[in-house]
Amino acid sequence: MPLATASQRHPLWELLEQLDSRQAGAELHRFIAELYPLCRSITGEGLRETLRQVDSFAGLEIVEVPSGTQVFDWTVPNEWNIRDAYIADLDGNRLVDFQDNNLHVVGYSSPIHQCVSREELLEHLYSDSRHPEWIPYRNSYYRETWGFCVSHNQLAEFNDEEYEVCIDSSLMPGSLSYGEAYLPGETQREVLISTHACHPSLCNDNLSGIAVAAMLLKQLRDIPRRYSYRFLFVPCTIGPIAWLHGHQELTSRIDHGLVLACLGDSGGMTYVRSRRDTADIDRVIQHVLADSGEGYEVRQFAPYGYDQRQYCSPGFNLPLGCLMRTPNGEYPEYHTSADNLGLVRPEALADSFTKILTGLAALEDNKRYIALVQHGEPQLGRHGLYDKAQEFGLFWLLNYADGEHSLLDIAEKSGLSFAKLSKGISLLKGVGLLTDGPIEKLAT
Ligand code: ZN
Repeated sequence: MPLATASQRHPLWELLEQLDSRQAGAELHRFIAELYPLCRSITGEGLRETLRQVDSFAGLEIVEVPSGTQVFDWTVPNEWNIRDAYIADLDGNRLVDFQDNNLHVVGYSSPIHQCVSREELLEHLYSDSRHPEWIPYRNSYYRETWGFCVSHNQLAEFNDEEYEVCIDSSLMPGSLSYGEAYLPGETQREVLISTHACHPSLCNDNLSGIAVAAMLLKQLRDIPRRYSYRFLFVPCTIGPIAWLHGHQELTSRIDHGLVLACLGDSGGMTYVRSRRDTADIDRVIQHVLADSGEGYEVRQFAPYGYDQRQYCSPGFNLPLGCLMRTPNGEYPEYHTSADNLGLVRPEALADSFTKILTGLAALEDNKRYIALVQHGEPQLGRHGLYDKAQEFGLFWLLNYADGEHSLLDIAEKSGLSFAKLSKGISLLKGVGLLTDGPIEKLAT
């Protein structure tokens, strides 16, 4: 779909102005509630069903990478599936039941069905004494074992000599699934949005990331785009490594990107810069957060956290940052059963979505413009724009529209929001005082 030319603003700004954030927040939360019961992991039917639901919501291609495939220093593991699991007393009463909460089973547990002594059972039980009412989340992807997670309070109840333990799982050659959507734009230069999709019943980490990414995909699909957009819904670590391995040539097209996670809690925003530190995406997101007037934090890249570790590994060093609200590991409910539907708030989800969309709109408009009067200021009163000059940064735009400075440069210098400057650009274009400059960086 071609972009409208002349003085029209990018349609993303209209979308943002018309956005009903209450409705958007409710839709995001509803989608999280639909995905919540599925037992996801880095492979298997729970992950696949999640991707199918994202496909129904926003359109997605599901890609399968066979177990045993070598991807850089990693091997795609066997596929894990689980149907049922429980710990029962010898009278057959289920004391711990996978059907109540899928966090009860250590992810990737190998199958077992036998009676075990209390001592042996306790070696395979995990709890968290700091939060005695919550079930912790554990997995063991690359070391074969079995285990259960219980609340610390429940641990004290295991006083019998023997228990029946059953994990009806399978760990066999299959494939790793990931979801990919590509939206072509006017140029092949790309914006990459990536989110991990491998956690079981946990909402902030990371059904919030999945839902916000899916909503972005849905909205961008119907809008004319300058950039091409690629969305990845991947299992942590092995997912992006498998994708990068299969698309090494293509990565040179990626100009900007975001890893999305933990976007639904009520904390302020946190942005982790790309390894490049001053990439356009780093500057754009920082400006959006500063402009919000709310508290936020910007951190430098570190080889920890989410999948930016892979995209920013030195062989790729892609311009991707990670956007979150409260970061992983820094809220008490993280990786526990308390990261539930109550922790993620519709208004926080809508706010995260809006801020990201604002950043993308800024990237779409981030060109070098040329003012058609370069000698002295144009007489704005004559063009009916004098009373709008201050609000929409018209003097800033006219002065720095020299073909050298980008919208991002002008936003940083003026301290004005991207939305106001974009309106200023359309006003100046409308009276023939401004035009798009060369966009050499986007040449395909
Ligand atoms: Zn996690």
